[in-house]
Amino acid sequence: MPKTAPLELVTVPCLTDNYAYLVHDPATGETALVDAPEAAPIKAELDKRGWTLTDILITHHHHDHIGAVDDLRGTARVVGAAADAERLPRLDLAVTEGDLIRVAGQQVHILDVSGHTIGHIAFYMPDAGFAFTADSLMALGCGRLFEGSPAMMWDSLQKLRALPDDTLICSGHEYTAANARFALSIDAANPDLISRSTGVDAARAAGQPTVPSTLAEEKRTNPFLRADLPELKAAIGMSDASDVDVFAEVRARKDRF
Ligand code: ZN
Ligand code: FE
Repeated sequence: MPKTAPLELVTVPCLTDNYAYLVHDPATGETALVDAPEAAPIKAELDKRGWTLTDILITHHHHDHIGAVDDLRGTARVVGAAADAERLPRLDLAVTEGDLIRVAGQQVHILDVSGHTIGHIAFYMPDAGFAFTADSLMALGCGRLFEGSPAMMWDSLQKLRALPDDTLICSGHEYTAANARFALSIDAANPDLISRSTGVDAARAAGQPTVPSTLAEEKRTNPFLRADLPELKAAIGMSDASDVDVFAEVRARKDRF
C-alpha cells in the first residue's frame, strides 16, 4: 500500500514580524489558513503551490491577525470565536472551547486561551500534532495581557502545556530573539535556555523563522510556562509565592524589559 502523503505545514512571514500558517491535506486537496495578517505573501504561497483556501481560522481580533480575511476569503469558510464574533470579520462558523471541527482532513479542537485578548482561541490538530497558538503561548514568550488577567493567561498556558511534548507550537510572531534575551535575564543558569538562545540567534542571522517550536523545548526554556517551578521562583526571589503571582511578576518584568 502506498503511504498517504503527509499533511503539509507552511509558515508564511507577513507584515513586519507576523506569521500566518497554511495547512494542506494532499488527500482531500483542502487548505486551511491560520490568521490573515497580509494578503500578498499568503496569495503568493497559494499560487506557487496551486492551492485554494477552503478554511480560514482566526485566533483573535487584533488587526495584524485578521486584516486580510476579507481579501482572502473567496469561497473559504471563515472560523472564529463566537465570543468575539462582533469584532471579527463575518464568520461562517462561530466556535467555543470544546468544539471539534474538521479542517484539511484533520480533527481540530478549539481551546479558549484568553489572556492577550478575551476570546483568543487556539486550534489544536492532535493527529498532526500542530497547535496554532498565535499570541497566547509564543516561542520563549507569551502575549502581552491587553484584556485578560494574569490568572486567565496562566490558566490558558497550563491548558497548552498539557498537550503532548512533541506538539508543534505554531505562534503568531517572530519575537523569539528578544524573548530569549528577556528569558536569560531571569533564568540565566538554565542550560537549555542558553543553548536555545544561541540557536535562535543563528536562525535569525540566516533569515530563518524560529517557529514552530516544540512544546518540549518550551517547557524546558519558556519562563512563562515555568512559573510553578521552584527553581524559577527562587531565581526571581519569590520562593514562597503562588504560581499565578510568579507568572504575573514574570509578565510584568517582561513589560518593563
Ligand atoms: Zn494580538
Ligand atoms: Fe499579534
